[in-house]
Amino acid sequence: MINPASFFNVSYGLYIITSGNKKSRNGFIANSVFQVTATPPQFAVCCNKENYTAGIIKETGVFIISALDKNVSSKFIGNFGYKTGSKLDKLKDVEHFTGKSGAPVITENIISYIECKVNQTVDAGTHLIFIGNVIQADILNNKKPLTYDYYRDVKKGIAPKNAPTFIDKKTLDAIKQQKADKTPLPRFKCPVCGYIYEPEKGDASSGIIPGTAFENLPDDWKCPVCETPKNDFFKLK
Ligand code: FE
Repeated sequence: MINPASFFNVSYGLYIITSGNKKSRNGFIANSVFQVTATPPQFAVCCNKENYTAGIIKETGVFIISALDKNVSSKFIGNFGYKTGSKLDKLKDVEHFTGKSGAPVITENIISYIECKVNQTVDAGTHLIFIGNVIQADILNNKKPLTYDYYRDVKKGIAPKNAPTFIDKKTLDAIKQQKADKTPLPRFKCPVCGYIYEPEKGDASSGIIPGTAFENLPDDWKCPVCETPKNDFFKLK
């Protein structure tokens, strides 16, 4: 079987990938970024073939990976993530400077950048993987990077359709359900006094530590309120 819930446990960061020259420039949001080798330092980025920036990277042979600040606004991400640069200049109102390669290096809501010169392009079907040598890299401040997990769980961000990690809504809901199903241990109720045994709390009066499943309680365990035996308890749905 292929359970897409396991794809969710692969960790990523969230980046803006820019490319360009004097004629054209653009940037988009990506999470599929990784370091390929240390000597020499090489990085890779995965990009949808229909992405406007992919065309610019192919043409100019450069890309810049910029790590987003954890506290960046959803609006700022939206400017780069859900619009196409073919019709507007996404960098028009965004602070940036021109990098060594001529491509724009964003400085707003960014904590560090890595500028790369493409040395290889891998065709991965719907996507292209650009691999490049680092030609310039620096940190801009000491803020924390935005992780994909934080973006998804706290900022409630979702991957757009052309992201390599895109998952449709139906599958996404199924994954959430699976996680919910795996989380709580069942609770049991005393039929006499109504006391509810909650595994996450345990039972301090009998030395039962939090996280103990009802099934794992000692056979002689009794209701801490009315002393009804364990076997008389019933499971709550
Ligand atoms: Fe009881």
